[in-house]
Amino acid sequence: MLAKEIVYIPLGSTLRTLAYESELLKAASLYSLNGRVLNVSVPLSEESYNPERRQFNALILLDQVSRMKKGFDLCMGVTASDIYVPQMNFVFGVADVSRGCAVLSIFRLTFGRYDEGQEIFRERVLKEAAHELGHLLGLSHCKNRSCLMSFSNSVMEVDMKKPILCERCLNILKMLSE
Ligand SMILES: [Zn+2]
Ligand SMILES: [Zn+2]
Repeated sequence: MLAKEIVYIPLGSTLRTLAYESELLKAASLYSLNGRVLNVSVPLSEESYNPERRQFNALILLDQVSRMKKGFDLCMGVTASDIYVPQMNFVFGVADVSRGCAVLSIFRLTFGRYDEGQEIFRERVLKEAAHELGHLLGLSHCKNRSCLMSFSNSVMEVDMKKPILCERCLNILKMLSE
């Protein structure tokens, strides 16, 4: 069954996720998906917090999101908190294609600042939301540095990407949806 809708769930501050609603919806429309941001308040699960790192474990958050997925096609938790996976200092996001769930953090994309008006922050959120969505639709990482699906380890690398898929990834996506 082809996915038709992506539901975004604020994890932690609802307001800070809703501030980027238009970028999250734009990311969905890049793939012709219907996007919806739930206006709910969901605290990050307590067990996901690592007090030594003062960060949240993205894999535990992924489990939390998958428990909330219910009837949704695809689901992405969006948080303003800093997230990591073991063996990495931080991640912008993680996705699990088999469960159709992802987690996106806007923390590093915006240097933890509450400045949603900044165009560069908005662009980064759009790109990384679209990147995780690409994974949910079956795309892997791409070596083309300007492609949405290239892996970013820093905001510099995010800024190098264009908010579109390269031709190769577009073709893969087309094949996957046939
Ligand atoms: Zn990725
Ligand atoms: Zn690509």
